Formats: sequence, structure tokens, C-alpha cells
Amino acid sequence: TEHFTSNHPERRAPLPRNMIENSMFEEEPDVVDLAKESPSYPIDSDDVVYEPRSSRLLVRGLGENDLDEEEEDYESSARLLGMSFMNRSSSQRSAAASSYTRQQPSNSCSVPSAKKMVVGILVLVIIAFVAMFIYFVPRCTFSKDGCQKTNSSIEQLYPKASNGELFPWTGLRLPASVHPVHYEISLQPNLTAMTFQGSVAISMVVLQETNKIVLHSYDMKIINSTFQDEKVNILEYKPWQQIAIKVSKELKKGEIYVLKIHYSANLSNSYDGLYNSSYIDTNGKRRVLAATQFEPLAARKAFPCFDEPAFKASFVIKITREAEYISLSNMPKVKTTPLGDGLFEDEFEKSVNMSTYLVAFVVANLSSVSKNVSNTLVSVYAVPDKKDQTHYALETVAKLLEFYNRFFEITYPLSKLDLVGIPDFLAGAMENWGLITFRETTLLIGDHSSPIDKQLVTSVIAHELAHQWFGNLVTMRWWNDLWLNEGFATYMQYMSIEEVFPELDIDNEFLSVRFKALAKDALNSSHPLSTKVYTPEEVAEMFDSVSYEKGASILLMLKATLSKVAFRKGVIEYLKRYRGLNTQSEDLWMSLSQVRSLAVRKSEMMNTWTVQKGFPLVTVNRTGIQVNLMQEHFVLNADNATDHSNLWHIPLTYVSDICNNSSSCKQVFLFKDKTEKVKWLKFNYRSDGFYIVDYGEQGWRALIIALKENVNVLPHEDRAALINNIFALSRSDRVSFRQVLNLLVYLKNETETAPLTEALTQLNHIFMLLDKRSDLLLVSRMTTYIFTVFGDLMDSQSWEEESSVSKQALRSALLETACHLGRPNCTNQANRLFVQWRTSNKTEHIPGDLLKTVLSVAAQTEKGWQVLLDTYKHSIYDSEKRKTLQALASTQDVRKIVWILKAALDGSEIQTPELPLVISTVCRHSAGYLHAWDFVKENWDKLTQKFSIGSFPLQSIIMSTTSQFSTKTHLDEVERFFGSLKERGSKMRSVQEAIETIKLNIQWMDRNLVTLWKWL
Ligand SMILES: [Zn+2]
Repeated sequence: TEHFTSNHPERRAPLPRNMIENSMFEEEPDVVDLAKESPSYPIDSDDVVYEPRSSRLLVRGLGENDLDEEEEDYESSARLLGMSFMNRSSSQRSAAASSYTRQQPSNSCSVPSAKKMVVGILVLVIIAFVAMFIYFVPRCTFSKDGCQKTNSSIEQLYPKASNGELFPWTGLRLPASVHPVHYEISLQPNLTAMTFQGSVAISMVVLQETNKIVLHSYDMKIINSTFQDEKVNILEYKPWQQIAIKVSKELKKGEIYVLKIHYSANLSNSYDGLYNSSYIDTNGKRRVLAATQFEPLAARKAFPCFDEPAFKASFVIKITREAEYISLSNMPKVKTTPLGDGLFEDEFEKSVNMSTYLVAFVVANLSSVSKNVSNTLVSVYAVPDKKDQTHYALETVAKLLEFYNRFFEITYPLSKLDLVGIPDFLAGAMENWGLITFRETTLLIGDHSSPIDKQLVTSVIAHELAHQWFGNLVTMRWWNDLWLNEGFATYMQYMSIEEVFPELDIDNEFLSVRFKALAKDALNSSHPLSTKVYTPEEVAEMFDSVSYEKGASILLMLKATLSKVAFRKGVIEYLKRYRGLNTQSEDLWMSLSQVRSLAVRKSEMMNTWTVQKGFPLVTVNRTGIQVNLMQEHFVLNADNATDHSNLWHIPLTYVSDICNNSSSCKQVFLFKDKTEKVKWLKFNYRSDGFYIVDYGEQGWRALIIALKENVNVLPHEDRAALINNIFALSRSDRVSFRQVLNLLVYLKNETETAPLTEALTQLNHIFMLLDKRSDLLLVSRMTTYIFTVFGDLMDSQSWEEESSVSKQALRSALLETACHLGRPNCTNQANRLFVQWRTSNKTEHIPGDLLKTVLSVAAQTEKGWQVLLDTYKHSIYDSEKRKTLQALASTQDVRKIVWILKAALDGSEIQTPELPLVISTVCRHSAGYLHAWDFVKENWDKLTQKFSIGSFPLQSIIMSTTSQFSTKTHLDEVERFFGSLKERGSKMRSVQEAIETIKLNIQWMDRNLVTLWKWL
């Protein structure tokens, strides 16, 4: 976690924006040879800060460059220029580049004044003194009982194991002196008693002589243990989830030793470790199963192990089960041995070398369909009732497996690949090697599924399958670089679907994901992609929008910069080079750099995106024929920004009115002729780059005029980006809300999904804030405004089956809003479809993309709600079931809201993994918003038992219930509540995020309420 205090903002003088001037259209441009620029500027911060230099660039003659065809395609002049714009600042910073890695401000190296030094040294001495005092004074000093006995120095260093002896290790991270090589694991889950017995034999190699072995274990009862076949005493230190053995004779370097442990434990009641899961089958009978979820830190709950990603080893797994179940693990089954008493032992092949978090097994009653795909037996498993919903996943995974085998030039290394739908599963899916586990909603496709449901299933499969290379084959060394796993899998998911399933229109989805990442990363409480993490809570928090979505966004930017072909070459190089090993970000940049030599090193450029949080705002100012560009760190709440000195190497792209609507415009044309005058410029072509742009009042006006004349002057991604950027700028008070409304006028000619849904999302957001303030008059004006902009489009949408995913996405967004705001055309149609559906006993089909909207309208009446509750209980189609649940949660009836929240928490009638969805749906409506917040406060401890502190579901719950507050009273209340939690969650980053968001909402209201009154 990012500790805000460690950044020492007070030590930094705020720096003015770094100005980089470029005179694109100047008469006599200077020639700047990028290659000859001195790479090592003196790190004189004054020089960097107060003397913005102009870098005049020669922009003619790019067409004369001898680029080969493919290079020319990607090596666009715009981008080269972009690099050049940056060059000045990058060379100034390059000497300080190493300081990036520790996130030091660039001016921290400057020599402080003598007075400051004296004060500084004094402070350091005091800190050191206090630290020593705290460290050496025994804990018992201030306790009631005082110290029981004298403390030797050893005792002060080492904590006490649970048996009272000293535990021989003092860190959360394991010592590196011993490395596991192979595990033999044997497990016997008892699905009646909900317990399991286990034994593990770990062979390990000694890397440095030592007399102790430390590994992980959590909440298990150790029955007996041997080391080298001799009985050995196991010490346990519970707070760190570690066990250890001490040996009298030093272990020899290079030797292999074997530790065996027999143990028993309960099947976990939360959703990690080896846990029990259950569901009601179509006969109304409760069925149980056992499944695993180990990422990030829960393998230690199933067997003692070295539970860090860099400790890769091979595994042989044996599972004892009853006849009515089957068992599955990462590898194919080699044999089954009857043990008598109706028990069987399944043994699985020895695994490839892998990290502990990728180990998995399932014991359940499942049915499957299978198929051979280039020497891999691919199977999709589901509970027997849902077997016929597995076919789509099987066809999809087959196509994607072939694609990845080809794309990475490394064939998937196992002889089998299982995809398993687990009832009662918390994550979306988990990429366990050879045994990918899914929520049923993200794997199964039934008759009631729409193409949008297929898009979801395809996305999740594509993501998890990409992990078999990114994550499984090559693994991040530690969780600080989780983005190497998640950013890549997310990027590959969009990239592969675009190639293999173009009909799924995935690019719109990827665009909105980039917008989402920008919104998160614009908060001061965001964090760098690579962030130091240590505690389990900090590790859990890494699974957030930054690691996934920003990670994917900057990989897209890098691909657009390098070219598709070069990027792929680099990726293949990386995978081949580090196959079976662990890596950090730098290793990826090195591989990519080897493919291609650019003037700017990849690692230097990319470090600016991975080791500092946030992203740049590029401000464009035009005076005559000059274009001036500035970059600065974009933070929504500029008041409490911690660092004004962040700079990025931005691969800048642009188009103008002279050439705009084809990707070839991204390059040479504009700059061939230096006297060319342009009416408008649009930067960040197709929004491939992770930055936003402010065009200044004139620039925005020119763009708005151009769009009003003809929407097609820009590609739809660019139109969506203009809308996204102007709302962000307005939130940070750089552009007036009036200007935002001016831009939206062009929407009456807009027909594309991306810009329309982006505008709708942004306006909905404002609507929801006003709605939660119960500002009734303003709410009704906002409703009228939304109808003025979108009303005709809403009314003209069809309610019949629609095959285009993009059209479905548009109409479902429009109609959801229309019905939510009570537009009669919409609610009447919805009621009509619902009555048809109900009276035909659900044989009369409702298009899948409209199902949620239709059912949500129906859920507002008592009778409708009861019908839906019954549907929810009996539906075996998970996408239908989920939409029904959202409809139920959209009720305005407070008693029902209270019931549904409770039911999802206790898991009896609504499965607990759906609780975050239930809460976020309740929070969309003003009726339930405060109830949801009360519910979170009252049930905090229960919530953190189900969803661990820092985990993604908990992040989501916090944001849903707090992010729409916009008054001081609520801010105080939220701060008070989370402050009172202390170690029960007050330090979570999402708490910081929540508080910052409320503050931003308050500011926005203060600034814009008057404008809204005037302009709506
Ligand atoms: Zn993933």
C-alpha cells in the first residue's frame, strides 16, 4: 500500500508545470538531433524547473525517411514528434531516472541549505533514538504484569512461537536459503464433516547453509512431522502464518532434504483455501463440493508450503474421494486406486514447475464435454443440471487455444486443459494451470444468453487462457509486479477477441475500460503499477483497476508505439527467455528493447508509466502557427496532490482537419508542408495513449464546430475520448461545465455506441449525485436534459432481437436509463414484454440485453417482485438469474431492500458472492442508498469474514456505498466510521479513495450547482 506519509510532500516545493514548447509550423525550425542530445543533464533541479527550454523541431521531410513499409506504418511522424516533445524533459530527467525506481522526487537530490541539514540531522537522530527505544524496550515494560523474566537479546529479536519457544525468523517474506523442489501432496476431504486430512512431503534444496527451514501454514492442526525421516518439532508463529523447524546440524549447500508433515484442518468457510461450496439442484436438494482458490496467499490454508510466487516447484497430488464424486487437479489423472469403504484415491501426473498459487483441485459431482485441440484434451465441466450450457465455452476455448499457441509461438505445455464452473465462487475466474475455475456466469451460456453474455464469457476465457503463458509460464517475482500478470492477461483478452471474434465488437469495451482506468488513476489515492507490498492486506489490494485496466492500457499504448509486429516479437522473446522463471517489469522492457532500437529506451519510457502513479494531462495552446504543449500530472483534486514534478514520456499522436479519418492520417501528412494551417487538432489518436488532453478554449471551440458540421471528421473512439476528457477536465475545474454542455450539443447527430454511452455514463453519474442529495427540482431538470439529448434515440430503439453487439450495448444503456428515469415509452414497453413473458410461462423470449431493464421495471410492483423472486430461486440459467437478482435489488420498497441485503450476506437464499452486486444495484437508487451504507457499518465484521480486508469485493462494497455522498455531514460520518475500525480495515486504499471521492463531489457541487440551475 502506498503510505501517503512516506512521500513527504512537505519536503517538496511545488514545481510549475514543465513546459515543452514546440513550434510545428514555424518558419525556420531548428534541427534537433535526438540521438545527439546529451543523455546526462546535471540534476540541478533549478535548471529543470525554472528554465523551460524550447525545442524547435524540424518536421519536414519525414516522408523522405527510408522506413520500410511496416515501419512507416507505425513509426508515425506524429509519434516521433511526440517523442521529441518529450525529449527535452526526458533528457533532463534521465540522469535522475534511477530515482524513479524509488519514486524520489527529482529535486530531492539538490543540496539542501546548511540550516535545513542541521534540522534534518537532528530529526533523524531523534527518530533513530525513538526507534531504538521502542525496539529494545521489551513489550512487557508497560504491561500490568511487567516482565516475567529477564530478556536476552535473542528473545527481543525473535517472536515467540505458539508453544512458547522462540520462532527462528523475523520477516513476513521467507528466507531465501532453502528452495522447494518437489511436493508430494495427499488429501482426503470429508464433504460430510467439512474437514480434511492431508500429508505433504516437500523436497527442498539448500542454497545457503542454514539451520532452519521456514515455510507457510495457516490454521491447520499438525499431527506429526519428520525431517529426513526423523521426528521433528514444528514451531508455529500464527500472526505471520509461518511454521519452522530448527536443526542442530547445519544444512549443506546443494543438498536435498525432505520434510514430511501430516495434518488436519476444516474446509474453509470463506472463498479461499480448500473451501466447501454448495448449491441447490433442480430437485431442490442441497449438493456440496470442495474446490480451491489459492491466489494470492491461500495455498498455505490447504497444505504447508513455501507460498511465494518465486518458489516454483513440481507437484504430485493424490486425492481421496467417495464414489459419487470425481476429482480434478492441474494435471491429468494417472490412476485410481480403490481403498475400500467406498473410497477411491486419484493420483495425478507430476506437474510442471509452478508457483503455489496456481495449484488447484476440485472434488465434486460434475459432467463435462471435451474436444482435442492440437494435442491438448480440452474439457468444460459443470454441475450435471447445466451440462448442456457448456458447449459455447468449449468451442470458444478451442479457438482461443489455437490462436495463443500460434501467437506466442509456444505451445500450451500440458496435455489437458479443464474449465470448471463452480457454484458459489467468489472471483470471476482463476487461471490455475490446467484447471481454470470459473463462476458459472462467466463460463456457461444457455438459451437465454445474449451476445453480450457471450462477450463476457469469451472475455473471461480469453483472459484466463492468456494467463497460462503470462503468469503461469512466466510469473512475476513478487506481488508488487502483479500487473505483469493481470495487465497482460487483460490486454491479451481484448487483443485476442478482436482477432478471433471480431463480431463481438470488443474494442468499445476496451475503450470504456481505458476510461475507467483513467478515472481511478486520476485520484490522489491511486498507486503506481509497480507498488511495494508486504502484508497480506497490501497484496490483496493489488488486485484492482490499476493492475488490470491501467496495466492493459499502457500495454496498448506501447503496442501502438512499437507496431503490432514488433510488440509481438518482443512478447515472444520475453516468454521464451523467461519461460519457467520469475520476472519483474524491467525484464519485459529489456525484451522489448532488444527487438527494436528506438531513440528512447523502452525501459526509460515505460518506467515513467509504471513506477509513478497517475497519468499526464497534455495542454495544447495555439498561438498563430505555433503549437505549445505542456504536460503535468493530472489529479482531480489538485489541492492535495503529492507531487507536481512527475513527468511522462508520452508517445504523442494526433490528427487534424486536413487528414483525420483513417489510421494513415496518424502519420506524415500533416507535417510534410510546414506552412500548412490547420483549423483544429486532435491529440491521442483513437485514444491509444494513457493521457488526456485539454485544447484550451479556442481548441475546444474549433473541435466542437467541426463535430457539429460533420461527426465523421473523427473516428468514434476520438469522439468518445473528447467527451470523456472534457468531463474529467470539468471535474478538476479546468473547463467550465458550460463548455461540457456545448460539446454535448453535437450528440444529436451522433449514432455510434462509444461516444453515446460515454456521454450517458457521465450524465448518469451527475444525475445519481443529485438524486442522492434529494435535490428534487434539479433532478427533474437533469432528467429533462438527458431526455432532450437522448430522448429521440431512446424512443427509436427496437425491443426485438438484435444481433449486433454494439447496437445491443447502445440500446441496453439507453433503455436502462430511460426506464430508470421513468420515461413512459420505455416503462410501457417493458411492462408489455414482462406480461407476455409471464403469461407465456417464460416461453415468450425477452432479448437478453433488455432482460435486466424489463425485469427491473416489473420488480417495482409487489406481484412482479414475487414472480421474480420465484424465478430467481428456480432459474438454472446464470445470466438470467443474475439479471433477475439485479431487478429484485432495484426495488424501491425499503423492507425488501433490507431483506435482500441480509439474504445475500447470510448466503441462504442468495449466494454470498453476489453481495457486492446486490449492494451496487441497491445503491443506484435513492431509496436504498442510506440503508446500504447502514448495512455496511452494522455488518462490517461479518463482511470482512466473508471478503478479506483489501480484497476486490470489499473494495467494490466500499465504493458503492460511499462514492455518491456529496455533503460535509456524510464525509464526516464516513471518516469517523472507517477511522474507528483501526486494524480492521481503516488503512485500506479504498477507504482513502472513498474519502477523496466524497471531497471531490462536495467541491463539484459547490462549483457547479449554480451553473446547473442556469444551464439545464
Ligand atoms: Zn487475471
